[in-house]
Amino acid sequence: MDNKILYFDHAATTPIKQEVLEEMIPFFKDHFGNASSVHFMGRGARKAVEASRERIADSIGCTDREIFFTAGGTESDNWAILGTALKEDKGKHIITTAVEHPAVLNTCQYLEAKGFDVTYLPVDEYGAVSIDDLNKAIRKDTILISIMLANNEVGTIQPIEEAGKIAKEKDIIFHTDAVQAVGSVSIDIKKLNVDMLTLSAHKFYGPKGVGALYIRKGLGILPFTMGGNQERKKRAGTENVPGIVGMGKAIEIAVRDMEKNRQHLTVLREQAIQQILETISNVKINGHPHKILPGILNLSFESVKGEAILLMLDRLGIAASSGSACASGSLDPSHVLLAMNCPHELAQASVRFSFGVDNSTEDIRCLANNLKTIIEKLRAMAQKP
Ligand SMILES: *Cc1c(COP(=O)(O)O)cnc(C)c1O
Repeated sequence: MDNKILYFDHAATTPIKQEVLEEMIPFFKDHFGNASSVHFMGRGARKAVEASRERIADSIGCTDREIFFTAGGTESDNWAILGTALKEDKGKHIITTAVEHPAVLNTCQYLEAKGFDVTYLPVDEYGAVSIDDLNKAIRKDTILISIMLANNEVGTIQPIEEAGKIAKEKDIIFHTDAVQAVGSVSIDIKKLNVDMLTLSAHKFYGPKGVGALYIRKGLGILPFTMGGNQERKKRAGTENVPGIVGMGKAIEIAVRDMEKNRQHLTVLREQAIQQILETISNVKINGHPHKILPGILNLSFESVKGEAILLMLDRLGIAASSGSACASGSLDPSHVLLAMNCPHELAQASVRFSFGVDNSTEDIRCLANNLKTIIEKLRAMAQKP
């Protein structure tokens, strides 16, 4: 086996694309101006920020005035939820799902402690919510529904269009976390019926620490930070100009290359499933059989600990994850798998492989070969008294 590093953790973060980096560099150096300065240096930065805003708006089918830059997916999720909950006086009930990212779950838990009532919709064995359950959960005092577009641990895609339709009918504000979807699923604001949508650049080969929140025109949520006049007084603070420039370039490429990338990732995922299931016994695939992101493969290896697998892969220079990067390091089983009714033992036996555009068929073969050896070793160890 060669010593090539194998990265299968693209759902945690992706490497920045060379073209993206190249567009960013001038804004660290010669064009370092503050986008709020009125002199020529500021105007240059402002122009770049607004050009990026337009690229992002074009990529998801909204207007540039509806895009607000943030410091990433977590901030966008926090803002969407807090900015709605703390403003709406129609009620104190929020609906979300049991499988959201911690950026949504922990924000909802914070609001619960402040007197809000939160319904966490259950999911089926594949991780999907049901529209029926959503309908039943809606109350007179429901002010917000937040359902992710695609899950970061198992890849399951949620019925956002239908959920949005219901929210619209009932006049309830609807937010979706689309962080994992960009580049794999086409996002068209006009079709989605959403009021707010979260994006994060580092999940689509852009820079870390920059994201955006789409806020439908006319929806007056509270500002996230108070200070200067940036982002139309809704998110004060000097703009991360290089990051914003990188995000615009990255989303343009992600949308342009989506079909090609989706095909590539689908092939890799199929190959991984075929090779791993062929050579290793008692492996279960977690996630939806077809409503799923092409790049995420979550597997449970019966009677071995996922953490042990990850450690042995790590030693070989193979990066994978136990699910949410934010939860890894803890030995608690994934809240997503538990919500899918996956038994505790199988939840702890799970590993998430998330593939990227630079992965090859050869990478998958190498992964499958190494996994076979690792699982055999771990299962043999478990057999010994
Ligand atoms: C990564 C991720 C986030 C957090 O985004 P950051 O930019 O890392 O803060 C939120 N939601 C989902 C679904 C994610 O995968």
